[in-house]
Amino acid sequence: MRVRGDARWRELDDLVRAATSLICAPQPGTPGRCGVCRAPAGRRSYCAQCELHVECAQGNLADVVVPIAYAIKGDPHARRLWQYKSAGLPRGIAEIAASLMRAQLLVFLRDHRACVFRAAGMIGPTHIAVVPTARRRPGPHPLRALVAPYLHGPWAELTASSRQEGTRELDPGRFAAAPIPGARVLLIDDTWTTGASAQSAAMALRRAGALSVATIVLGRHVGAAEAESAGLARLPFLPGSCAVH
Ligand SMILES: [Zn+2]
Ligand SMILES: [Zn+2]
Repeated sequence: MRVRGDARWRELDDLVRAATSLICAPQPGTPGRCGVCRAPAGRRSYCAQCELHVECAQGNLADVVVPIAYAIKGDPHARRLWQYKSAGLPRGIAEIAASLMRAQLLVFLRDHRACVFRAAGMIGPTHIAVVPTARRRPGPHPLRALVAPYLHGPWAELTASSRQEGTRELDPGRFAAAPIPGARVLLIDDTWTTGASAQSAAMALRRAGALSVATIVLGRHVGAAEAESAGLARLPFLPGSCAVH
């Protein structure tokens, strides 16, 4: 995978810089964080949901999960993660949110893809995939539509099985992928809430033959009270750092 050279880097960097003071991000090696999704985990190694997923999935989850930032309920980042794909908002609001989400993902991939792939034990992905949205909508996934012009595929196609719509449980049958024997996949998603969708997608990719999966999410959703007690808002967003380096 390459980020295309014609991405307008100066404009994208400016957008990310302007939003930096409003977002907070997981830092590597911080104690009290989930070893998978970086949510507050107290004295445990994993948050409750990731612990359950690790127990159930027996090594079939993503090799690494890297949230670019926390999305604390009510904060601007969490709001934009909802706005960028919402129809019916006043004209311009969804577009502004979408520009920022695109900038954050592309700049992060430019600066940190090497450390994310290293953490997943892969030299680089052979395929890119997006986690299907919970509610089906016509046309391409909004996140894929946002970044596809700038990323060289190929894309691994994931489809949701209709019986699983709306569920919040980890389920290896929730998604299906076309065969990709030996693939190394970069899996992207906008918001990680329980992680069940993204991890079910990782399981589907492995079932389709993927050897490794590195997951990057724009926002690790955290409730306001939980974020407050864990001091998340005081963590800065450091463009030169990521959750794994
Ligand atoms: Zn977790
Ligand atoms: Zn990094």
